[in-house]
Amino acid sequence: MLPVTLQATTGDCEGVRLDWRMARRRGAMVEPNEGVMEASAVVERLKEFGRTRGDSDWSALDKETETLVRRNPFAFLVAVAFDRGMPWEKAWRIPTEIDRRGLLDPVRLAAMNEAELAMLLDGVAVRPRWSTKQGAKTLSDAARLVAGRFAGDAEAIWKDSSPAAVQKTFQEIRGIGPGIASMATRILRDDFGCFRGQEGEIDVKPDEHLVRVFVRAGLSDGYSDNEVMHAARRLNPEFPGELDWPAWRIGQVWCHPTRPDCGGCPLTEVREAVMSLIAMFVSAFDHASCYRRSNGPSS
Ligand code: SF4
Repeated sequence: MLPVTLQATTGDCEGVRLDWRMARRRGAMVEPNEGVMEASAVVERLKEFGRTRGDSDWSALDKETETLVRRNPFAFLVAVAFDRGMPWEKAWRIPTEIDRRGLLDPVRLAAMNEAELAMLLDGVAVRPRWSTKQGAKTLSDAARLVAGRFAGDAEAIWKDSSPAAVQKTFQEIRGIGPGIASMATRILRDDFGCFRGQEGEIDVKPDEHLVRVFVRAGLSDGYSDNEVMHAARRLNPEFPGELDWPAWRIGQVWCHPTRPDCGGCPLTEVREAVMSLIAMFVSAFDHASCYRRSNGPSS
């Protein structure tokens, strides 16, 4: 009887997936829907962890920015529009910097050309990292959208509208893609009470942290945005975006690209449970305790 030795090099969750395949190859009596069962346990744990979020993200912002973004819908729109290619806390600071110049007004900003907007962004303490020229396009589109079509009221974009329609409108702003549009509608739902009963239209934002966790935890077989978004829709159809924050947070705090900190990760309990189950299957098949695991990343 050959012992089963697994080499999990990137993360314990990935080790679990290898273990399932190994158990199957060795002829273990595995239920046909075992993959679904495993995924559903991970999804439940993610949802449970998501309920601990509270105000943790808002408290990461400086008080001035938190107050402004919570109270001013145009500030929220500008914050999410700049939330790419730089730490999110800094991106969300940009509307505060514009406000300090007395210019956080969609009508006034819409009257400025892109060169003037680029100069404005060049002069503030926190600038878009990718370039102020690109940032000026984003700011110009956001201001013109709100001033021109919504009479200067950014909240009118999402008030009495559906998540799908709002995501489409957001993507008219250069720099906002489907991921940021999904994230923005998820925040509007979670923190501003919008879209109740329409959560099925809110997707995850497949950024690098979330994608890594989805693949390692066995929720998605591939790394593409489409694969990850469809996995979330399939596994949690009533509210795919509910998996967004917990998976993103786990990727940010524990599931590092190399040497993930599985010991502290909220998914570790699920991993342990699945590992025990697999060990039982393998052990029963071999009539011996021949299952052992070596070289885990956190060991
Ligand atoms: S850190 Fe968490 S999600 Fe990442 S591999 Fe480890 S147990 Fe899985």
